[in-house]
Amino acid sequence: MLAPAPLLGVAGSREVAVASTLIGKQAVVIGAGMGGLAAAGALADCFEQVFVLERDTLPSEPAYRVGTPQARHVHALLLSGQCALGELFPGFEQDLARAGAVPLRVGLDVRMERPGYDPFPQRDLGWCSYALSRPTIERTVRSRVEGQPNTTLRQCCRVQEVLATPNGEAVTGVRYENANGASEIIAADLVVDASGRGAPTLGLLKSMGRPLPEETTIGIDLGYGTCVFAVPDDAPTDWKGVMTFGQAPQNSRGGLMLPLEGNRWMTTIGGRHGDVPPGDVEGYLSYAKALRTPTIYNAIKHANCVDGVARYGFPESVRRHFERLDDFPRGLLPIADAICRFNPVYGQGMSVAALEACLLRKLLETARGDPIAALAPSFFAEVQAVIDTPWSVAVFDFAFPDTRGQRPADFETTLKFGIALTRLAAEDSAVHKLTAEVQNLLKPRNVYLDPALVKRVFAKMAEA
Ligand SMILES: Cc1cc2nc3c(=O)[nH]c(=O)nc-3n(C[C@H](O)[C@H](O)[C@H](O)COP(=O)(O)OP(=O)(O)OC[C@H]3O[C@@H](n4cnc5c(N)ncnc54)[C@H](O)[C@@H]3O)c2cc1C
Repeated sequence: MLAPAPLLGVAGSREVAVASTLIGKQAVVIGAGMGGLAAAGALADCFEQVFVLERDTLPSEPAYRVGTPQARHVHALLLSGQCALGELFPGFEQDLARAGAVPLRVGLDVRMERPGYDPFPQRDLGWCSYALSRPTIERTVRSRVEGQPNTTLRQCCRVQEVLATPNGEAVTGVRYENANGASEIIAADLVVDASGRGAPTLGLLKSMGRPLPEETTIGIDLGYGTCVFAVPDDAPTDWKGVMTFGQAPQNSRGGLMLPLEGNRWMTTIGGRHGDVPPGDVEGYLSYAKALRTPTIYNAIKHANCVDGVARYGFPESVRRHFERLDDFPRGLLPIADAICRFNPVYGQGMSVAALEACLLRKLLETARGDPIAALAPSFFAEVQAVIDTPWSVAVFDFAFPDTRGQRPADFETTLKFGIALTRLAAEDSAVHKLTAEVQNLLKPRNVYLDPALVKRVFAKMAEA
């Protein structure tokens, strides 16, 4: 794979600090999902011991588990996430390939169907990404964490509360319920909350009478339905995956079909505000038949569905503004979905979690003075640059009139700019590559403000 551009300035941090960087005795990570595992990779060089506490039983083979119900749905790993995980766990790409991931030439192998472009021009943009199931991605990362000599993964351990000094100024550890139902305490210099919902962090703030972070929400009422199919012998050969967009504002129904390890396809289709796929296979196929284009339906209509229909409701994207709090307990850090949950349609959450873990490591390795005291304020300030681009994509959710939240005043212009940029990308491979870099979170969205590009986009807008 060609080396992509630096990851929003946070990866590549390995070169910054190579000397011994132990800054504490024990760190505890709550949750062994994507954020927790990536964080454990980031912490290993900075603490004598790292404990990861997970409420679920962790399967030895890639398998679905209760604590991550979203894992039954398509999980695309963006290039930025792939690279960030490679920074944390060198050789990660090879691990993916060994786990059976299907290599995809970015821009070429996934047929993109957008209104006006069925398909969007397919071009090899110079990178290879990998398609595989979320349980296998997670198992691959977990194997690397299990291989860290100073890291212990404790399964069936549900964290009940984060413990702090009586004045609430500093975190001292966590209390958790172990596999036998007994309550135990583990001391920690740093607690990273990667529980997804962030309940341990919010629980501590509440119990201390501290303010909770303000939230920005965008209500999208997404209904997802997913089926896994055996790839049929007569599968099309001109694509390995398909992404079909609806026609905003009237049709929110879209679909993404990607290959999985084991010669399977995973198809996730869905709509918004009540347009939900049915839970039976027959109804699911009828719903797929009514997608804007027939490509996905034609591919799966005679294929063998191996595991029924899984459904998921996602009411809203949520961004918690920890950066606006005046102070925060020393030694506590929420990460990944606990800070920001993105509309899953854009496939960003795992990659943002990995980028945040790279930022965490950079801050711990480069901090002067008291790194743990400095961590949360620096992280909350710097993570905004990581979150801004993926969050800005969510603005396009306002193309659907039932979307709830603060519709930006200049939304119509943003929408027209986006449409004209897409037209330019269809015609010009360099612009296509740039948009792929932004979508993959390799570059920030403000690269679109380049004056020469803006001039060309405005010319397209004028043509329209
Ligand atoms: C339907 C859907 C589809 C998605 N598709 C994509 C996609 O295509 N690409 C992408 O990058 N992202 C996708 N995402 C987002 C992605 O799943 C998350 O962003 C990512 O998993 C975030 O990681 P996390 O560690 O914050 O949370 P999770 O991965 O959900 O992990 C949280 C972990 O914490 C554990 N836990 C919770 N509470 C406790 C406790 N008290 N004690 C101990 N353990 C606890 C849970 O059991 C779980 O294992 C999707 C999300 C959804 C909902």
